[in-house]
Amino acid sequence: MSTTTHSIDQAPFQNSFVDELRGETSLDRRPRQVPGYHYSRVEPTAVPDPHLLAWSEELAAFLGLVRPPERGPAVDVLAGNRLAPSMKPFAARYGGHQFGNWAGQLGDGRAMSLGELTATDGTTWEVQLKGAGPTPYSRRADGRAVLRSSVREFLCSEAMHYLGVPTTRALSLVATGDTVVRDMFYNGNPRPEPGAIVARVAPTFVRFGSFQIFLATGEMDNLRALADYVIRRYYPELGEPSPEVYVSWFKEICRRTAVMIAHWQSVGFVHGVMNTDNMSILGLTIDYGPYGWLEPYDPDWTPNTTDFGGRRYAFGQQPRVALWNLMQLGQALLPLVHDVEQLNPALDVYINTLETTRHEMMLRKLGLTSLNREEDQALFEALEQTLAESEVDMTLFFRRLSHAAPAMLKAPENGEAQWRELLAATAYSMAPNEEQSLLQWLHRYFLRLQQEQASPEAIREKMLAANPKYVLRNYLAQQAIEAAEAGDLSVLNRLMEVLKKPFDEQPEHEELAAKRPDWAREKPGCATLSCSS
Ligand code: AMP
Ligand code: MG
Repeated sequence: MSTTTHSIDQAPFQNSFVDELRGETSLDRRPRQVPGYHYSRVEPTAVPDPHLLAWSEELAAFLGLVRPPERGPAVDVLAGNRLAPSMKPFAARYGGHQFGNWAGQLGDGRAMSLGELTATDGTTWEVQLKGAGPTPYSRRADGRAVLRSSVREFLCSEAMHYLGVPTTRALSLVATGDTVVRDMFYNGNPRPEPGAIVARVAPTFVRFGSFQIFLATGEMDNLRALADYVIRRYYPELGEPSPEVYVSWFKEICRRTAVMIAHWQSVGFVHGVMNTDNMSILGLTIDYGPYGWLEPYDPDWTPNTTDFGGRRYAFGQQPRVALWNLMQLGQALLPLVHDVEQLNPALDVYINTLETTRHEMMLRKLGLTSLNREEDQALFEALEQTLAESEVDMTLFFRRLSHAAPAMLKAPENGEAQWRELLAATAYSMAPNEEQSLLQWLHRYFLRLQQEQASPEAIREKMLAANPKYVLRNYLAQQAIEAAEAGDLSVLNRLMEVLKKPFDEQPEHEELAAKRPDWAREKPGCATLSCSS
């Protein structure tokens, strides 16, 4: 256990990706194809006035980093104005399927990794700046990020971590003192926005697309080298790479991806852009862009305006899309195993893990223990359908139920009135037939709940630990952004604190657990987002 702490400008970085894989060393930023390489060495482009806006205290402590003052050498590093002596920054090369179509080389166009830090538990974590200027992979774009999207990535990755969802982390949010021009809705209205840089952190940012690019270009040596690097460093329990180990590795990727998707479905998170370049090889939620949180439970909902045509990445599609993405990854790994038949069982691992994990999560959300699997599954599906046919806030419904259901076990005579109250408190609108269906489901559920042996108190504890009270509601993120753009960080700081304990009541923050207000229903940034970050 290391107890030494450093300012990031003095921290000891390792550079395994650079040292172990093939990279271009030229530091040339001009956009281009980079055949033959895993990465390009790059340098960040300096910004005029970097200053710290937000800092993730717990993550920093875990990485052995001390909180820097608002301005100075550490913040200069976090803004790309300075490098620690041990850093060897790089932009990774990868490809990907975007909205189902092969897009060729993409790569870190506005992200660059600085190197890896060793955390207090001995694990290594890559630190990556998002928005630190152009790289060979920037294509026609500027390599920058706006404050709006940076606040969203910073807040949501930390919120997801505290919800227990596998995710990349965010260490810092720095303002650049510069503006970036963006056409927020791609509708011919570009405007200058404040620029920002997030330092994000993960064991590795390797994606499905990192392997796909080598299949597309026939670079088999690079494909194998990257697979071996990932297995040796991040899946060492699988053993030395071999054709059998590649298969068990792909199975494990399938398993982890299923667990991640089950979490998303359980809390109502919609990623928004599940392109294969946005799928982590570690099964982490990665690349927070036009994501959103379900308000009314609606499988067809997506916040991403770019996806309004096909709704490919809508909430209810996420399980299927992840499978499709895994199939693309499987294709890319095929040259390592030669036989397609060997990879197919891994896809069953995805399907089975997803089914089992979702089932177990729903049992916990409803305070149930395993009894009759098929009957319970039918009960869950009926709930999903009934919720989808009405306009009930997902987070509020499950949280209120965590209080109401155990209370009902104690005093069943309050029945109907209490259910009606729950629905009134969680619905955005309610036609009589919708209320009837929901009441019917609640009655059916209550009969099932009465078969549980545990005490009402124990059931309540269990449900409260599975149904968050606080999630990063779309309009809350937008309020934090608008305040931050006006120089007020109090909303952001408050959200950060509250979202660290999403399952705690925190009655003083009740208003952050409220139904979406009417004004936020169709407001850009709340209900609709684009990829323009
Ligand atoms: P994303 O939609 O964020 O997953 O990005 C898709 C691809 O576009 C990735 O290769 C990004 O690096 C690249 N990209 C997105 N925004 C920018 C930007 N502002 N500058 C350079 N490249 C970008
Ligand atoms: Mg991306």
